[in-house]
Amino acid sequence: MLRVAEHFEKTDTGRQRRANEDSLFARAPVFAVADGMGGAQAGEVASRLAVEAFEPGLPAAGTPEDRLAEVARAANQRIHEVAADDAARTGMGTTLTAAYVGDAGVSLAHVGDSRAYRLRDGVLEQLTNDHSLVGELVRRGKLTAEEAEEHPQKSVITRALGVEAWVDVDTFTAPARDGDVYLLCSDGLTSMVGEARVGELLRSAPDLAAAGRALIDEANAEGGRDNITVILFRLEEIEGTAPATAEPPPAAATGDQPTALGQSAPSQADVRAALHRQQAEAAAAPAAVTPRSPRPPRPAPAPAKRRRWRRVVPALATIAVVGLVAVGAWMASRAVYFVGTDAQGFVTVYRGLPYDGPFGAELYEQYYVSGVPAADLSAARRKKLLDHQLRSRGDAADLVRKIERGQLDG
Ligand code: MN
Repeated sequence: MLRVAEHFEKTDTGRQRRANEDSLFARAPVFAVADGMGGAQAGEVASRLAVEAFEPGLPAAGTPEDRLAEVARAANQRIHEVAADDAARTGMGTTLTAAYVGDAGVSLAHVGDSRAYRLRDGVLEQLTNDHSLVGELVRRGKLTAEEAEEHPQKSVITRALGVEAWVDVDTFTAPARDGDVYLLCSDGLTSMVGEARVGELLRSAPDLAAAGRALIDEANAEGGRDNITVILFRLEEIEGTAPATAEPPPAAATGDQPTALGQSAPSQADVRAALHRQQAEAAAAPAAVTPRSPRPPRPAPAPAKRRRWRRVVPALATIAVVGLVAVGAWMASRAVYFVGTDAQGFVTVYRGLPYDGPFGAELYEQYYVSGVPAADLSAARRKKLLDHQLRSRGDAADLVRKIERGQLDG
């Protein structure tokens, strides 16, 4: 099966625009680029709403293409509603190019003139059709690709999210192979750097991060007339045929790893400390590359009070207390994170608490699956990292990013 081995993403304002109206989403196996349009910061709002639609994860049912398209259509509706409610935002819209890495290949959903490319065996191929005026003219044979690059109306798009109450979303699935590199980008890259040069830069860079930075540097060197957004991810084939599951594995499936699933619940002090870190993080506006509004932290659970129950109702009392604790823990669990492994043994960030609640209810969900197999880490590091210690979202994300980049010492 295919996995995302590494990824890099960056958005840059460029050299001529005052604000960045592009947004990106990168949480393997889902990636998205959005390039907003509209005056008075409306473009920023539109592109942010588009990528935020991916935050809760893809809908559970349907093919990967259907699930991506459903998110895109929901984002369309949301942007359209926000625009209708605010005269300053009338007509705002955004492109969206989103990818999901699944077992069958890489599924794409696409609206507008952001692009998806695949680099395979050194050959760069554009996978998406631009929904732009010049794109249509090129497809009808009225313009050559070279003429299109110089065309004065090259930035006029014919489809966007949010402009109409409904949107036609292109979806398709590209067969994927070990070693394929995918590039999702906004037109701030492709309008400044020709396709042949993009291919050269990708082939000559030592790794994805260097490649991504080289692409952005080149677009800026050519003038940087628009916002530039680049997402790169590389696929690798790994052994195992088990379909990716949303559920963390049972304890036995993680092999030699110390697992804390089913261990005793973290103390209230642990939960409060993690919540506190989360709040501090939300208060300090994150310097994230993606404009995203931080989720408000949920309140700490109310401590279950000890009550003196009569002897005739001990069972009821137990149920009531268990219920209170479960509700409190569930509320707290939305704001804390921990690091573990998924069913395939990849280092994974979970949102929630690392134990099972009463009646088999799980108090955690997968938040981010890294491209790093836990087996690649030394035993000492594994023990230290996969300890299921409660962390803030930022802590957990930083830690896993460092693991992905091989930047952890000790
Ligand atoms: Mn643009």
